[in-house]
Amino acid sequence: MSGVPIYPSVDHTAHRTLVTGGAGFVGSHLVEHLLAQGDEVIVLDDLSTGSARNLAGAADNPRLQMIHGSILNTKTVGQAMESCDRVFHLAAAVGVKLIVEQPLRGLRINIHGTENVLTAAIERQASVLLVSTSEVYGKNTADRLREDSDRILGDPLLSRWTYAGAKGIDEAFAKAYCDQEGLDVAIVRLFNTVGPRQTGRYGMVFPNLVGQALRGHPLTVFGDGHQTRCFSAVEDVVPAMVRIERDPRARGQAYNLGGAREISILDLAHEIIRTLDSRSEIELIPYDQAYAPGFEDMRRRVPDNTKANDLVGYEPQTSLTTTILRVAADLLARERLASDAMPLAGSFRGVL
Ligand code: UDP
Repeated sequence: MSGVPIYPSVDHTAHRTLVTGGAGFVGSHLVEHLLAQGDEVIVLDDLSTGSARNLAGAADNPRLQMIHGSILNTKTVGQAMESCDRVFHLAAAVGVKLIVEQPLRGLRINIHGTENVLTAAIERQASVLLVSTSEVYGKNTADRLREDSDRILGDPLLSRWTYAGAKGIDEAFAKAYCDQEGLDVAIVRLFNTVGPRQTGRYGMVFPNLVGQALRGHPLTVFGDGHQTRCFSAVEDVVPAMVRIERDPRARGQAYNLGGAREISILDLAHEIIRTLDSRSEIELIPYDQAYAPGFEDMRRRVPDNTKANDLVGYEPQTSLTTTILRVAADLLARERLASDAMPLAGSFRGVL
């Protein structure tokens, strides 16, 4: 390391913070943010979907400690939480594709793993931010999903619903531990968070389509493409998570953190092609083929962000165009797409 300090020194408000899933997409951005605020950060990650590479920029920081292990191992969780005063719990089996393919693993990690983290936090009197998901609302297509909106889930025997089921149980566990055992816990529900370091490997649409546009491959839009989402930028979401965790009024409460703009997946594909000046075409793929027979998608998912806005001033700032460019630049740099992509679409050099 050169002698130039990259991170600010520890200040008096600094915490010793455990981030489970800290080597994942959102987790690694959170870790960088906490280090910049002066925290000592312990990352517990099994590196199943996360990667040590996500933390490469912080690897030399003496205030970062990395533990390779699973939240299913109570001893490991206890050790990781040793002398921590707060936990951001992000470790989970994520990605619709992965959940559909491996429902048992998802259920175990997302239910048993989370309870391990919550009970260890109680023992050590650490506060918890439980990171949950907009999937808990299921098929509710309301104009604006509020935190107290109804959940509409499909057949529990369809593995697609096990993620929403498990995350709902996690939230119920957190609330019950809060009410009955005094756990200091707040919950955030993330809505399609996107940005650099998210991988398309587990089915997430944004990096998938950007990667396809860069390669000049067809953009795979599932179903009729008229399903909508509100993508939120990780740069907007992470600081809000930290402010919510710190706010005593958030105890026992859940907060939506989503994007401001509703867009169909078909329009997203067009916008990616336009922004990256790609020659790719769009290919509609039936759900049965993309996932599994009988797969049910969410037709629409729109957050009401008022509660987080009132509490911590959360307001999504980053435009979709900016995120497309950031994700494309990151994919080119990280996955060495450049050599494949350039002959197919030489103008990328101009837009990135
Ligand atoms: N999707 C798509 N093409 C892909 C991956 C996903 O059209 O290559 C669709 C998917 O069916 C869903 C939307 O994009 O309608 C968002 O999918 P993602 O898995 O990113 O998030 P979630 O379903 O959890 O909102």
